[in-house]
Amino acid sequence: MLFSITAAFNSVTDISPEMLARLGIKGLILDIDDTLAGHNDPQPAVGVMEWLDKMKSHGIKMIIVSNNFYLRVKLFADLVGLEFVNESKKPFSKGYRIAAMRLGLPKHALAAVGDQIFTDVLGANRFKIKMLYTLPIGNTNSKIHKIRRTIESPFIPKKIYCSGGRATVEHRMLRSLTYKERF
Ligand SMILES: [Mg+2]
Repeated sequence: MLFSITAAFNSVTDISPEMLARLGIKGLILDIDDTLAGHNDPQPAVGVMEWLDKMKSHGIKMIIVSNNFYLRVKLFADLVGLEFVNESKKPFSKGYRIAAMRLGLPKHALAAVGDQIFTDVLGANRFKIKMLYTLPIGNTNSKIHKIRRTIESPFIPKKIYCSGGRATVEHRMLRSLTYKERF
């Protein structure tokens, strides 16, 4: 399975420390563009700074892995106080491997978080770590976004978890987790 998703969320801020604990996730490999911030937006999206602080206070280790260029990634990573790998060439594994090494965690304790099917989802599956998919933030009316959505739509999960969300998604998560544990 190259496009397996462990759980899908409306926003990164819907991911809770309790949920990560249940999935055995101790570290997150985070995408920036359209996941933590709008595309090339220097500021994190609403609630993201607080969410990062909450994760840190629960001992969740985090690192940014982005395909964007050095200055964009460094400025953002410095702002939110995280280490980073820039020009990571997701979905190839090198960036994930560097990130896993820096976090000092085994693959089974790691999850990638991101919004793109052919970079974030494919990359996480190639590297054989869990995948937490977030719907992209930002201007979804732009031409490039519309084209992307059309191509990606068959792969996007129908059940999206929102905070205080539905039990059906829990089932999906557990089913995927069982699948992942066969690796
Ligand atoms: Mg992205």
